[in-house]
Amino acid sequence: MNLYTPTGIAELMNEFGFSFSKKYGQNFLINEAVVQKIADSSFESAKGEKKACLEIGPGIGSLTSKLAQKYDLVRSVEIDDRLIPILAKTLAPYENTAVINSDFLQVDLKKLFEEQFSGYSVSVCANLPYYITSQIIMQLLESGCRFDSLVLMVQKEAAQRLISSPGKAEYGSIAAAVSYYAKASKLFDVQAGSFMPRPNVTSSVLRLVPYETKPVTPKNEELFLKMIRAAFSQRRKTLLNSLNSFFSSEYSKDRLEAFIAAAGIDPQRRGETLTLAELKALSDAFE
Ligand code: SAM
Repeated sequence: MNLYTPTGIAELMNEFGFSFSKKYGQNFLINEAVVQKIADSSFESAKGEKKACLEIGPGIGSLTSKLAQKYDLVRSVEIDDRLIPILAKTLAPYENTAVINSDFLQVDLKKLFEEQFSGYSVSVCANLPYYITSQIIMQLLESGCRFDSLVLMVQKEAAQRLISSPGKAEYGSIAAAVSYYAKASKLFDVQAGSFMPRPNVTSSVLRLVPYETKPVTPKNEELFLKMIRAAFSQRRKTLLNSLNSFFSSEYSKDRLEAFIAAAGIDPQRRGETLTLAELKALSDAFE
């Protein structure tokens, strides 16, 4: 059983009557060197004595088995019921693995930590389903759970949006929110030929290392995160107009202008040029 060749995967699929689901973003990695590099990159940033890995979307277990050879414990969350019997076969040699058959977006991460990872330091490693990349990343970062790092494969364009900085064309609410929680960097690109079926796009592997101390300390974190969404809600509009359309039911335009002035920001700036420190000053002014 070779999980890293088109023939090996086709044999496994035939045996289980499996076909790829577009709905679940199923593009499986077939390049063993790339899979190894992702697992190595994840393990490099793992700390602690007992190391565990949380994987989202194991597919047929190609990355899972490499992770299992490095980590003490691997837990993988897979939504597609049809993959569960396949994973039972491909992961049978790895007693330190277990698969949780669930939609990751519905998983209570705090509970998962208590039940599965007690006494372990946890890293996240995944070739993410591209249709919910941002939701998964925000769920992980906002969970309050402590991760050593998140090594994630995403679409190249999504990667650019995730690690962009103020003033750049791709900078948006997701990059601002990510930069509040973690230091994000791109590790390498992966060409479409490394997947089966072959996607239309190039992919990138990112590493996110959550901050122990966040770069800014807003008075009200919930309001700060809302402010990020508000500032970026209307691209290419002025900050005042973006905030006005977001908060119209709560504040008059004059009050919003006063908040912006109190934060020491020019109301004619575009929301997408604001740094984290300015977003914090703005949300503090609302307080
Ligand atoms: N890790 C495998 C690999 O690299 O070959 C598969 C990666 S594939 C891009 C994405 C995987 O995520 C698929 O196995 C898919 O079924 C699974 N998936 C999609 N949506 C999911 C969700 N909401 N929760 C958990 N798994 C999901």
